[in-house]
Amino acid sequence: QEERRRQSQKLEAIGRLAAGIVHDINNLIAVYESGLRLLQKQLRDDPANPNTAMLIEELLKRTQNGGALTQQLLAFSRGQSLYPETVDLNARIESLTMLLERTLGSGITIRRDLDPALGPVLVDANQLDVAILNLAVNAKDAMAGKGTFSIETSNTPEDIEDVRSGAVSFVRVTVHDTGCGMSKEILAQAFEPFFTTKEEGTGLGLSQVYGFIKQSGGHIRIESAVGEGTSVHLFLPRHQE
Ligand code: ADP
Repeated sequence: QEERRRQSQKLEAIGRLAAGIVHDINNLIAVYESGLRLLQKQLRDDPANPNTAMLIEELLKRTQNGGALTQQLLAFSRGQSLYPETVDLNARIESLTMLLERTLGSGITIRRDLDPALGPVLVDANQLDVAILNLAVNAKDAMAGKGTFSIETSNTPEDIEDVRSGAVSFVRVTVHDTGCGMSKEILAQAFEPFFTTKEEGTGLGLSQVYGFIKQSGGHIRIESAVGEGTSVHLFLPRHQE
């Protein structure tokens, strides 16, 4: 309990810090990017400089990586302004199909098991999309191009202690992959901001999802086994009349 409280205080502090600096970095990156595009345009008619063109291409790629990172930081620190609405979760998941296919690539099979009895939930639908896509990116990384990604909804989530104790009732969304899984040590740190085991990771994906779900009044659980795969369970508050 104490651990959880510390975790969310830490998230909050880092969120505030990030909000301040990310705007500036984002602006800088935009300046670099537009300068590079201008150079690229000027060089297009000058084939005498193939190396410069390649360098520019490379730099542009870097600015785009930087841009993606600042976007993620922004979304992460923006935590406080959610716009919850009544959402038909199954329909929302259906509408993500194309994006999920593109995110995961053709070697990965997508399965859906959507509970037809699923009631509406109260959540920021756009942020929920972002969360699911974040989980899909992690799933893709874990599966190295091959495997099964499944997304399941349940109107009657199994009892989990602190889910049961509150007055709010929940539905469950589970995102599962058949990837590498996580060791106990990795799982224990997976929600930590900036914790990553990937060379090009930001370590912000899961902490962002965690922050969003907590702020939505929900719960998140991860089950993972090395060599078998990972399930991320999201418990979202039901829309109550
Ligand atoms: P990032 O993906 O940038 O590393 P995350 O916060 O999303 O940041 O994830 C933190 C770490 O948790 C990852 O580096 C990885 O080790 C582990 N992880 C997250 N999702 C999965 C998954 N689906 N399967 C295996 N490991 C995962």
